[in-house]
Order: sequence, then C-alpha cells, then structure tokens
Amino acid sequence: MASRLLLRTAFRAATSCRFARAPALSRCMAAGGIPTDEEQATGLEKVIMNAMKEGADPYNMMKPKNYAGSKADPHLVPSITNKRIVGCVCEEDNTAVVWFWLHEGEAQRCPSCGSHYKLVPHELPH
Ligand SMILES: [Zn+2]
Repeated sequence: MASRLLLRTAFRAATSCRFARAPALSRCMAAGGIPTDEEQATGLEKVIMNAMKEGADPYNMMKPKNYAGSKADPHLVPSITNKRIVGCVCEEDNTAVVWFWLHEGEAQRCPSCGSHYKLVPHELPH
C-alpha cells in the first residue's frame, strides 16, 4: 500500500515537472555501447596507445628484451643523451647491484661480471 502511494506520488511529480523529458543522449549510448579505451584516450595516453599498437615502446614501459650480453649480442640500453648509468645484477641471486656509467660508442663491459652493454640513441615522441 505504501509502495503504491509512493509510486503514484513519484509519477505525478515526474509528469508535472517541465524538465521531465530528458534529451536523448547523443554520445556513447546512441552509438550502441560504452566507448573503448582507444576511443576515450586523448593526448599523451593516445600517443602511447598508438605506439604500442605499432610495437614501439616510446617511454620504456615494457620489460627489456633479453640479450646474451656477449660481445656479439650486447645488452642494448636506450638513452636520450650520450651516456647513462647502468645497474648490473651480475648473477641471478645477487643482492648487490654494480653501477657504472655507459658511454656512447662501442659496447662496454660490466666491471664485475664482464657482460657487454651498448648505448643506443632513443628519441622521445614529444
Ligand atoms: Zn655485471
């Protein structure tokens, strides 16, 4: 009984109100669904999404590829300058990291384990 009275009151309020009719939504609902992340992304997020589709990694967000670390297949270290500091965990279960500067040019070796590292130029997309 109380719910019927409440429903009737709500119906009267809705029909007497001038703004009872809401204008039709013209965006996502009219298209038939919820927009995807790609449709909503703008600015830097869109640049990153487009680069990821092409397989590029403009901000080094992905896990680095595995290299042998030998002279023929050195670890490639991207850098926007001509040098970069590198930390090498020489063995898998080491708790200490060996830090050293890697300069542009030929591949350099880790002073502790001898793995080869090579600096490669990297351009930021903006
Ligand atoms: Zn090392």
